[in-house]
Amino acid sequence: MNKPVYLDYAATTPVAPSVAEEMVKYLTLDGVFGNPASRSHAYGWQAEAAVESARRQVAELINADPREIVWTSGATESDNLAIKGAVAGRDNPHIVTSIIEHKAVLDTCKWLEQHGVEVTWLTPGPDGRIRPEQVTEALRGNTVLVSLMLVNNELGCITDVAGIGRILRERGVLFHVDAAQAAGKMPVDVSALSVDLMSLSGHKVYGPKGVGALYVRRSPDVRIEAQIHGGGHERGMRSGTLPTHQIVGMGKAFAIAKDGLESETAHLEQLRASFLQGLADLDGVTLNGSKEYRVPGIVNLSFEGVEAESLMLGLRDLAVSSGSACASATIEPSFVLRGIGLSDELAHRALRFSFGRFSTAEEATFAASQIVDVVSRLRAVR
Ligand SMILES: *Cc1c(COP(=O)(O)O)cnc(C)c1O
Repeated sequence: MNKPVYLDYAATTPVAPSVAEEMVKYLTLDGVFGNPASRSHAYGWQAEAAVESARRQVAELINADPREIVWTSGATESDNLAIKGAVAGRDNPHIVTSIIEHKAVLDTCKWLEQHGVEVTWLTPGPDGRIRPEQVTEALRGNTVLVSLMLVNNELGCITDVAGIGRILRERGVLFHVDAAQAAGKMPVDVSALSVDLMSLSGHKVYGPKGVGALYVRRSPDVRIEAQIHGGGHERGMRSGTLPTHQIVGMGKAFAIAKDGLESETAHLEQLRASFLQGLADLDGVTLNGSKEYRVPGIVNLSFEGVEAESLMLGLRDLAVSSGSACASATIEPSFVLRGIGLSDELAHRALRFSFGRFSTAEEATFAASQIVDVVSRLRAVR
């Protein structure tokens, strides 16, 4: 059986072959298997050197200082550490976020809300973007943190983080940005964006799953409280033996992403163009989210008169995602699509197609022709 065409790069990416090759050198007896925290022998020193080299590679992609990178188990942990760590120990804290954040941010903020933290939930426009004025209006005397994503994982739209960052820096409010979907897909510069805390993930950028990083600004100095204690690794912000192979993999993946950013963007723009061209003759197709401010690899489309669930069943040769979380009995439409004002009906008719480094023009054209066939068939039997 042929495998379906993979069009779910926003969910995860395969590890780049050269990254996997590098990672296996840090596991076995003949490799660099030592504990990076072992200070008394060469096994430890070598592992530490590999970790520090990867720290530089991750820092370089976002124009940070390597000392500002804290290793975590993924962007989910980075989001938790940034938000809980910024709020901890503050008197009567207030935070601002949006209703279309990743669950790692939403659920963390909801949990804090249940524990007495005040949360303002901003609603984006139909383009999926939070405007700087909305953030300004939400600020209060006790606001300690604003948490917003740079690129939305379902829509692919880009928020004006630089504009919001300028306001927050002036007001002395911490700014956390989840950039898991932005890194490797667009230029990201923590200084230009005036960000204080930034979450990153390995596996969205052709690195391994189970590793991530939190950028924590040093100047002006940002203080967050550790959420995992023991051993005092990572300048006391995140304890636990560092997974050298994972970290080396993420470092290499980020270095590749930096070198290939322009060519990869051009590649994805071409794929998107072929894909949309292939759909041009199909009526009743809407692109969800901002048309202008978006990364090229993520395309979220609603198909008039066609349920996403039926469409996905028909698209057996494509691996895509509906964005709807299907519980056994009830099918909930995507909270992101509802969040940008789509009716339940329209939200139920949306699918996310996400392309990546290993996608080909043939696959994009094939995907479009499959969609045209299945949508036409489903509309004919309505
Ligand atoms: C994938 C993703 C995460 C979670 O990252 P993990 O490394 O899988 O924990 C968080 N935020 C966004 C925007 C994501 O796309």
